[in-house]
Amino acid sequence: MSTKKTFDYIIVGAGSAGCVLANRLSANPDCKVLLLEAGNKDWHPFIHMPAGISKIVNIKSLNWDYNTETEPHLNNRKLYWPRGKVLGGSSSINAMCYCRGHREDYDLWQQLGNDGWSYDDVLPYFIKSENNHRINNDYHGNAGPLQVSDLKHHNELTDAFLSACQQQGYDLSDDFNGQRQRGFGLYQVTQNNGVRNSSATAYLTPEVKTRKNLTVWTKSYCQKVIMQDTIAKGVEVIRKGKTENIYANQEVILSGGALNSPHILMLSGIGNAAELEQHAIKTKLDLKGVGENLQDHLDICLVQRCSKNVSYDRINELKAGLQYLLYKSGPGTSNAAEAGGFLNVNVKTHSKSEQWPDLQFHFVPAILDDHGRNRLKGNGYTLHMCYLRPQSRGSLKLASNNPMQPIKIFANYLSESNDLEYMKKGFEIQRKIFSSSTFDEYRDAEIFPGDEIQSDAEIEHFIRSKAETIYHPVGTCKMGNDEYAVVDHQLRVHGIENLRVVDASIMPNLVSGNTNAPTIMIAEKISDTILG
Ligand SMILES: Cc1cc2nc3c(=O)[nH]c(=O)nc-3n(C[C@H](O)[C@H](O)[C@H](O)COP(=O)(O)OP(=O)(O)OC[C@H]3O[C@@H](n4cnc5c(N)ncnc54)[C@H](O)[C@@H]3O)c2cc1C
Repeated sequence: MSTKKTFDYIIVGAGSAGCVLANRLSANPDCKVLLLEAGNKDWHPFIHMPAGISKIVNIKSLNWDYNTETEPHLNNRKLYWPRGKVLGGSSSINAMCYCRGHREDYDLWQQLGNDGWSYDDVLPYFIKSENNHRINNDYHGNAGPLQVSDLKHHNELTDAFLSACQQQGYDLSDDFNGQRQRGFGLYQVTQNNGVRNSSATAYLTPEVKTRKNLTVWTKSYCQKVIMQDTIAKGVEVIRKGKTENIYANQEVILSGGALNSPHILMLSGIGNAAELEQHAIKTKLDLKGVGENLQDHLDICLVQRCSKNVSYDRINELKAGLQYLLYKSGPGTSNAAEAGGFLNVNVKTHSKSEQWPDLQFHFVPAILDDHGRNRLKGNGYTLHMCYLRPQSRGSLKLASNNPMQPIKIFANYLSESNDLEYMKKGFEIQRKIFSSSTFDEYRDAEIFPGDEIQSDAEIEHFIRSKAETIYHPVGTCKMGNDEYAVVDHQLRVHGIENLRVVDASIMPNLVSGNTNAPTIMIAEKISDTILG
């Protein structure tokens, strides 16, 4: 006779958010916690060696490997959207830049009706999560699980980039997460002594993983939430080739990320009833915001050929690998996106504060094309730029009721003309920075878009034909109280008992920066709510 498998909390997805929840909830020995992850364990060495990021994008087994549908405002291209499918989720394959966004991002969440999400409310959870190896002040934590440090190594081109920014009159900054976000500088990274600190390495330490009340199952794919009317009872999981039902005494928590959590909700009968019916899914709750409000940072790269053999393009990989293995130092510790910054250009007085940056830059001392999938010959350097608060909104749609078929992504980038204006303005700044005299000794021909691209129309065409994601999809199970809100301010699914969504999908609006630290903060805050 088989016994019913029951836990108090079932967490679906061991990514940035899921690992935090698993750690914090299982710290209470009375809570029996199951953490489910569709991907494998994080054994692959390229996950842990930061420079492995240049290889990891091509490792299909670690990646959901999504593509958008054809994007009407980007010359009908399908854009590649990598997402982590492994313990640690996207924090195991990301670029490790540690950024929280701006005070006003969170104050806006609060103003939208989400009590307890102002900057002053969330700052303690950023601090709680963080162990900053350099900065010790009121904005930073020095005792949390997430290791945040300065890069152990950076390229000489990165120094040239920072001098160029200064030459153009921009402020330098040694902390994007303190009182002031604006300025250019080296990114702090989620690394510990030159090794990636994913949310799995940070929060699922050997000591945590051996807790008797925590069970972690990898290669376990959740197909749907088991519902009894509008009460979540457990999950249906495919594991070791079999379908199993697992039950939760307290709650099911979806932490599958901004694409998969709404997908699981839809497969469970929670979503837009008309759409569910089209795919023969019985509606449990007509919640039309599921999969809507999709937002992402669209990014454009200016790529310059370098006249000296100093970039990471033609590095001696054997030597760098050996140095890394022996000493955890050198180029192997680089996250590629070594420096960058935040600016406020305020094209059409969209932001109310001069201090609220609207553009972000990432500098990479190597040629970067098509997420590193297109390897070009020679040496070069790249400057990414994205607009931080796009007005364009996309959506996710079911392809079918087959859980194995990926959700369809309609990112709908640049559907609002305002977003294009910012991209063009940012592109001018990218070129201005690369034209600085500090780059004279390195500058060769411009690769993308190429010196011949000068007119407004040509630049617009370049943006539409080359812009890509910088990997920050959010908003598809947004927190709020309006008709498109999916979860309330405690991240409980509206109208459903015992079901929460805790991951990047709950952000009502994109934050003005990268999204890993904010997602970890969200999970820290809700762990406290659940335990408290
Ligand atoms: C290439 C790349 C570079 C990035 N660079 C940065 C950066 O430098 N700095 C930064 O701050 N942010 C960066 N980001 C973004 C950041 O990593 C993500 O926003 C963040 O990790 C999202 O966390 P999450 O918990 O919402 O989802 P994820 O971390 O993606 O976790 C979701 C987890 O759920 C699992 N899962 C999904 N569906 C199921 C299912 N049905 N059953 C079981 N398990 C399931 C997935 O396999 C995954 O492990 C980057 C992202 C990518 C992809």
